[in-house]
Formats: sequence, structure tokens, C-alpha cells
Amino acid sequence: MDFFSNFLQQKVPKSGKELPVYYRKALCVSEILLIAYFFVCFFFYPLFLDVWIWFPLGFAAVTGAALWLTKNRGVRENLLIYALLTGGWVFWNIEAFGWSCGVQHMLTLMVVFLFFNIYEKPLIKIACFIVILAYRIGLFSWSLQHTAVYTMDRATNTFYQTINTVGFFVMLAAMCIIFSTSIQDTERQLRIRNQTLYKEAGTDPLTGLPNRRAMIEAIEKFCKANPEESFAVAIADIDFFKNVNDTYGHNCGDYTLVKLTELFTEHSGGRYSVCRWGGEEFCFFMPGANIDDAGVIMHDVNFAVERMRLEFEGNEITITITIGVEECDFSSPLEDLLKRADEKLYMGKNSGRNKVVV
Ligand code: GH3
Ligand code: MG
Ligand code: MG
Repeated sequence: MDFFSNFLQQKVPKSGKELPVYYRKALCVSEILLIAYFFVCFFFYPLFLDVWIWFPLGFAAVTGAALWLTKNRGVRENLLIYALLTGGWVFWNIEAFGWSCGVQHMLTLMVVFLFFNIYEKPLIKIACFIVILAYRIGLFSWSLQHTAVYTMDRATNTFYQTINTVGFFVMLAAMCIIFSTSIQDTERQLRIRNQTLYKEAGTDPLTGLPNRRAMIEAIEKFCKANPEESFAVAIADIDFFKNVNDTYGHNCGDYTLVKLTELFTEHSGGRYSVCRWGGEEFCFFMPGANIDDAGVIMHDVNFAVERMRLEFEGNEITITITIGVEECDFSSPLEDLLKRADEKLYMGKNSGRNKVVV
């Protein structure tokens, strides 16, 4: 018993968790349309039939209560109430007017709701589907063996069947619109989120520069698109950067990295793109440049850094960098090229720093 009540009362995740909102919305809209449909029946019956007209009104009232529950409590019992309402209405109609009144289509709406309920396990969905199918087949064979309580003439039957068919299609269309737009929205949000994540994954958070991965991707993309064109790479490393951190603090080190980034960006003039290679190392990519061009550009950068005056908490800081430059030879893999630039950088470190090795 506890299991059963827990199962029914299990909360569908509430709004803010994005997906369940559309499901509850579809259920609400469907219940509003059902109420409208019951009212149409309420006005239709006295015109043509000698039927107890309070019946559709009673269904409208219960659906109103179900709607209130759906709006205020996002639990499984809402779906069960909806299923009982539709199932009960279909049963009463077939008993009263026979199979030809066309009301049995309403059961299809239950199937749609069942399969769009993403919180249900597939096995439970299949079991419920079998129950709905068995119910429909059972009703049909029952209607073959029993005559309807009320007899409708041909015109009334056609008119009532039209009301039922239009009602069913309107409800089906409303559900499909809600479900499909919600799936489109979710897909769009996912795509935007993926793009943001991809961009974030290739960006260094401190300097805002592309990181090593993004730079390698960009160079590889260039090589693929321009296999005949030359290019050069350079790796720069700040000299004695540990001293900056040790003397003025880690924040000052960070500040220096940010300021250096600004200098590189301003100084580029479209001649190179730069990334944060790691720690206090930067990598430059110079498309279209040979080793001589790259040497000139990097000497320029080196000189600009040397002249840069940094102010941090009243202290004036100057830094220098050492750079290793290498050009593409159209045969070595990119990895080897970068390795050679790195070796040149360490040659520069070993021979006094603050220099460009080409
Ligand atoms: P060298 O001239 O041989 O390159 O000397 P160095 O002191 O620059 O080299 P070392 O590799 O000994 O030290 C690099 C320092 O860079 C150590 C590390 O704390 C610092 N560093 C790396 N990344 C960051 C960062 O993001 N922020 C700060 N503040 N410091 C960093
Ligand atoms: Mg260093
Ligand atoms: Mg280093």
C-alpha cells in the first residue's frame, strides 16, 4: 500500500528544472480543452438527445478539480486522474451511444501523454500502453455485444462524431505543439551551452587568451587550409618570473601576466596571434611569415616588453622575456616544430636571457 501511494505521490521535478514544466503545461492545456469540450457536450445534448445532461457538466467539474491539482501539485496522480477521466468518459459514451460516436480516439491522447512522460521507466510505459490497448479492444468487443442505451439518428450521430473528432484533434494538436516546441527549445539551449563550453574550454581564465589546445587547433586548421603557405611559431618565457612572485606576491605575478597579455594584443597589429602556452609562457603564431620575418617581429615584441613599466601597489616592476623562434619546413609535424622553438628558448635562457633565438 505504501509503495502504491509513494509511487503516485512521487513528485515530478518542479519548475526551474526546465523539462517538467512543459509536461505539466501540456496536461493543464489538455484539461482546459477537455472542460471546453464537456461544455460543448452539455449544450449539445438537450438539442438533440434525451440524455441526462448533467453528466458532461459533472465531468467538467471533476476536470476543473484535476486542473487545480495539476497546477498546484506536480505528482503522478495527476496523470492517473486524467487517465481515469478520459477512460470514464469514453466508457460512458460507448455504453450510451455506441462505438460509432467516435469518442474512443480520446484514448490515443493518453498514449501520447504516457510516452512523453520522460520520468517514467520504459517498462512502466509499455505496461501502461498494453493496458490502454486492452481497454480499447475490450470496449470494442463489449460494444459489439450490447446495443447503445440511447439511439441517435444519422444526422445527430454525424454531428456528435464531428464534435468528438474536432475535440480530439484540437487536443492532439495542442499537445504536439507544446511537446515539439519544448524539444526544439531544449535542443537550442543545449547547442548554445555546448558552444559556450567549447569556447570556455579553449580560453585561459586569467588572461582571456586562447590556451594551448585552442592554439594547436588554430595552427592545424591553418595548415590544412593553406598547405603551401609558410608560417612561424615562437615560444616566449618570462625571465626570473619566480622573483616577481616571491618579491611582490602572487597577485602581482597575475597582474604582470594580464598586462603582458594587453601588450601582446596591442602590439600584434595582425602580424601574429598569441596564446597562453602554460604558466608564464606564451606561444606566438605568425601565418605567412618566414624565419626572418618572425625574427623581426619577435625582436619588436621583446623590445616592447623590456620598455614596459608596470606599477603594482606603489612598486615599479620591469620584466624581460626570452623567445625561441622556428619556421615551418613543410615536412616536420607541428609537435616537432614547437619542440624546436622550445629548445631555442632554453638556449636563450642558458646564454643570458632577454633575447630572441632564431
Ligand atoms: P626563468 O628565467 O628560468 O624562466 O626563471 P623563472 O623564475 O621564470 O622560472 P621558473 O620556472 O623557476 O618559475 C616560473 C614561475 O612562474 C613559477 C610560478 O609560480 C610562476 N607562475 C606560473 N604561472 C603563474 C600564474 O598564473 N600566476 C603567477 N602569479 N605566477 C605563475
Ligand atoms: Mg620563466
Ligand atoms: Mg617557464
